[in-house]
Amino acid sequence: MSSSASGGMPLVHAVNVHKSFGSVEVLKGIDVDVHAGEVVCLLGPSGSGKTTFLRCINQLETIQGGRIWIDGELAGYREKNTKGGRRLYRLKNKEIAAQRREIGMVFQRFNLFPHMTALENVMEGPVKVQRRPKGQMREEAMGLLETVGLGDKSSAYPGQLSGGQQQRVAIARALAMQPKLMLFDEPTSALDPELVGEVLQVMRDLAAQGTTMIVVTHEMAFARDVADRVVFMDGGVVVEQGDPAEVINSPSHKRTQAFLSRLR
Ligand code: ADP
Repeated sequence: MSSSASGGMPLVHAVNVHKSFGSVEVLKGIDVDVHAGEVVCLLGPSGSGKTTFLRCINQLETIQGGRIWIDGELAGYREKNTKGGRRLYRLKNKEIAAQRREIGMVFQRFNLFPHMTALENVMEGPVKVQRRPKGQMREEAMGLLETVGLGDKSSAYPGQLSGGQQQRVAIARALAMQPKLMLFDEPTSALDPELVGEVLQVMRDLAAQGTTMIVVTHEMAFARDVADRVVFMDGGVVVEQGDPAEVINSPSHKRTQAFLSRLR
């Protein structure tokens, strides 16, 4: 899953990313690299642009400036040589959809199909979108449900599952598409406190298996234990990034210090 076909280039190479909603600039030049197999946690106060940045990586938002490469491929654009120099051309929707399929995303709310069982939810994308054989996919989906600790819940409907179980199905569903990269947007923040641990444990297991992950989270213990690097954002910029223990235990920037002291 975490193979990089592009030599030393990071799996995610985001350069000077700008994003505005109307006249409000929400991302003001974000530079972030994530290497294959790395776990990077995005930290920062609410409204700092973390979710927007994740959505830009997954092309749920169109950026107005900068570039994002995923595994050496420019997201959303093709670069061509012209007489006037190199120019960018927007990819067709179909090509953008193909790029987006390389990335799995897990949201705060699980958004499972309510009329499908856990197993059917996990099989849906690979069978309908990737046209993979149903029989083979059923076995693979069962394996994924076992990976997230839900082997015995394959025929349960979302309404019969707890929030933590639903979120674990959502993780299995994203993994079923065999993504190169997994994005997690505050995956535990909608859960009752007693259900948070089981979802974080699944994410710890994925990290230990070498899954490349970008995780927006307020779970500092998870970030400190699991992340290879944390990126602290505030006001649409990266304020500081580095080793989790260093940034979390002894942040060098005032804004990081203020944020972390509010959490303690
Ligand atoms: P975070 O994830 O750090 O809490 P967000 O990326 O969700 O931050 O939001 C950053 C800012 O962008 C906020 O001020 C938010 O209100 C604004 N924003 C996010 N999405 C939209 C949108 N679709 N339209 C307008 N403003 C938005």
